[in-house]
Amino acid sequence: MDLTSVRTVRVPHRRDELGCAPGEVLLGGGTWLFSEPQPGVTGLVDLAGLGWPPLTVTGAGLSIAGTCTLAELGAATPGLPAPVAALVGACCDALLGSFTVRHAATVGGNVCLALPAGPMIALAATLDADALVWTPGGGERTEPVADLVLGVRRTALRPGEVLRSVEVPRAVLDARTAARRIALSPLGRSGAFVTGRVDATGRTVVVVTASTPRPHVLRFDAPPGPGELAGAVHAIDDWYDDPHGAPDWRHAMTVLLAEEVRAELAAAPPPAPAGRGGGA
Ligand SMILES: Cc1cc2nc3c(=O)[nH]c(=O)nc-3n(C[C@H](O)[C@H](O)[C@H](O)COP(=O)(O)OP(=O)(O)OC[C@H]3O[C@@H](n4cnc5c(N)ncnc54)[C@H](O)[C@@H]3O)c2cc1C
Repeated sequence: MDLTSVRTVRVPHRRDELGCAPGEVLLGGGTWLFSEPQPGVTGLVDLAGLGWPPLTVTGAGLSIAGTCTLAELGAATPGLPAPVAALVGACCDALLGSFTVRHAATVGGNVCLALPAGPMIALAATLDADALVWTPGGGERTEPVADLVLGVRRTALRPGEVLRSVEVPRAVLDARTAARRIALSPLGRSGAFVTGRVDATGRTVVVVTASTPRPHVLRFDAPPGPGELAGAVHAIDDWYDDPHGAPDWRHAMTVLLAEEVRAELAAAPPPAPAGRGGGA
C-alpha cells in the first residue's frame, strides 16, 4: 500500500549515514512496512544500499546479513550440511508468502518485526544464533536472537539500533534437526511451529514459536524422553491467542509437534563429532 505520510526515502551507503531522524524507520524488504498504514512514519531508511553480502561463511560459523532475503537464504542451502539445510528450508517455507514476498522479506526484518510466527526467529533460536546489533555512535553488541525477541512486535532493540547480522556458531552446523508446523488452513500463518536440534554430544534444543508470543527455548543435556519433553512444554504458560489459533489448540498442537520433533531427533544416533567419524 502507499505510505502517504512518507516524505523522504534515504539509501545510506555507509554506516555513518544510517542514523534515523525522528519519523524515519529502517526499511528491510518492506513486506510488512508496506502492508499496513504506518502512522507517524515520515521517512524510510533503506538498508539495501549498504550492500551487505547476504551470507558469509567465517571461521566462527555462518553470518547471515540482516538484509539477506528469505529467497537468498533458501538458495544457499545446497552449501550447508544437509540437516541444517533442511531446517533452513523448513523455516523459509514456514513464511507462506508469494514469490515477491520471499524475494523481498529479509531475515533482519523478520526478526525485528517480532511476530510470534517469525520463522527466522525460530531458525536462529534453534541454532543458538546471536544477533549482531549495530548501536548508535559506531559500537556494536551481541545478544542471542532468542533473547532479542521479547513479545509480540517487541524486541530488546533500543532506538537507533540495527540488526546487522545473525551469527550462527560453527559448532551447531553439524547438528541434526527437525521441524514441525501447523496452521488452521493450508495456506494460513503458523499456529504452532516447533523446531529442534541435537548435537553430537546429545545436547538437545527444542524451540517453540508461533504458539507463544515469544520464542521458548527448551534445553536438555541429553535427548529427552517423551514425558520430560511434554513436561517442559506443559510448563509454558503464555499460549498466544489470535485469529491464527486459540490458546488451548496451540498448546495441544505444540505438545504433539514437539513429540514428533523429539521422536525424529531420537530416531538415529547423534552425528559423530567432526574429525572422529570415518574408518571402520
Ligand atoms: C503474505 C504475507 C505473509 C506473511 N507471513 C508471515 C509469517 O508467516 N511470519 C512472519 O513473521 N511474518 C509474516 N509476514 C510479515 C513480513 O512479511 C515478514 O515478517 C518479513 O520477514 C518482514 O521482513 P521485511 O524485510 O519485509 O521487513 P520490513 O517490512 O522492511 O520491516 C519490518 C520491521 O523491521 C524493522 N527492520 C527491518 N530490518 C531491520 C534491521 N536490519 N534492523 C532493525 N530493524 C529492522 C523495520 O523498521 C520494521 O519495523 C507476512 C507478510 C505477507 C505479506
